[in-house]
Amino acid sequence: MILPSFMEYIFLDSQLFFMLMIFTFHQCPLYIICTIQNVDLKTLFYLAQCQQVVKVKPYFRQLKYLIYLYKNILNMIGISRGLTQDFVKKAPKIELHAHLNGCVRRQTLFEIAQRKQINVDFSIFDLRNIRGAFSIFQLIHQVLGDLSDIRRVSREVLEDFRDQNVAYLEIRTTPKSCELGTYTKEQYLATVIDEIQQFQQQYGHKMQARLLVSIDRGRPLEDAQSTFDHILKLKNNNLIVGLDFSGNPTKSTFKEYEQLLEQARKEGLKITIHVAELEGDEYIQESLDIVNFKPDRLGHFNFYNQNLYNKVRQLDIPIEMCPTSNFYTVNMKSLSEHHFKEFFYQGHTINLNTDDTCVFDTDITQEHFKMIQAFNLSTDEFKQLLIRSSSMIFDQAYKPQLLQRINEYFSNHQKE
Ligand SMILES: [Zn+2]
Repeated sequence: MILPSFMEYIFLDSQLFFMLMIFTFHQCPLYIICTIQNVDLKTLFYLAQCQQVVKVKPYFRQLKYLIYLYKNILNMIGISRGLTQDFVKKAPKIELHAHLNGCVRRQTLFEIAQRKQINVDFSIFDLRNIRGAFSIFQLIHQVLGDLSDIRRVSREVLEDFRDQNVAYLEIRTTPKSCELGTYTKEQYLATVIDEIQQFQQQYGHKMQARLLVSIDRGRPLEDAQSTFDHILKLKNNNLIVGLDFSGNPTKSTFKEYEQLLEQARKEGLKITIHVAELEGDEYIQESLDIVNFKPDRLGHFNFYNQNLYNKVRQLDIPIEMCPTSNFYTVNMKSLSEHHFKEFFYQGHTINLNTDDTCVFDTDITQEHFKMIQAFNLSTDEFKQLLIRSSSMIFDQAYKPQLLQRINEYFSNHQKE
């Protein structure tokens, strides 16, 4: 469903009993002052489309409430500035920041937990802050205890991204041996790779999948070194395209791992680093160290000062943004506060990702649609976002095909 533009609407509907004055400030806030005797459904639909109705004369409080109501209806049925959720779902999207275990289906998690007689505290899924997210992670790690679980989860996660019309996926995981001794780090990695290879054979025409191996900075350096040795042995399969540096930032410093990451870079691996996840002056230097290393991509980049921002802009390092995850980490009141605005409108290369679909109860369509709504993005801006994402992929050999799919999708839409 595509709503008529405002002028068309005024012209088409002679039944309107209102005067509407709109003043546009900056890029998107719309100030609406109106005198209304009667409001029909279509009018409210239009008003609800104005994403940022911030000022309505007090004696029209009722109208404000109705707008709020209809905005929610629009959210539910999924329409934003002529862009439907269905259109966003069908678009060929790119996911670059998703952790394998964090994307397990909740249903699968419950099933395995039940089979293993592990008690699940369901209240942890009532996510309100980032601390709740950590409890879900703990449960995931406790439940996924053997290789058959890893195999099943890998398969399902790939299927889920495919069903969201992801055209290119980079999934990341930290290879680890099982604490119960049921599998080794090597077996873990081989299982994930095997599932990706099988998936590629069957569905490679729909979705291309690649693997990023994560180095957990919360574990000792020797553990990272042994992970790196495994990667070198497996690198020739062309599925491992890069290395992700992540984990609890309070457990170690980036500098301790810098040499290893430099070594990985020399071996031809691309590097992406989780950065600026925590707030506080004490983390700014750490973030500067990471940015000065010039990774191929940065993950999140939630907290920064002017100096850090300028540095990232100047070095032109692309950022993987994860709206829902960032929303909880930063404790935002609304997604319109997201740092997307400081980068997207400056032409910086960014893309949108899920981070952990299970933990944040989201999917890649929602991540895009929420931002389309929060920033009132047009169809062209949505396309622009996908095109910028395509220049961030680590397997650049696939970029021409990806661009073709994006361009075809949007030009077919224009013909409709
Ligand atoms: Zn992450």
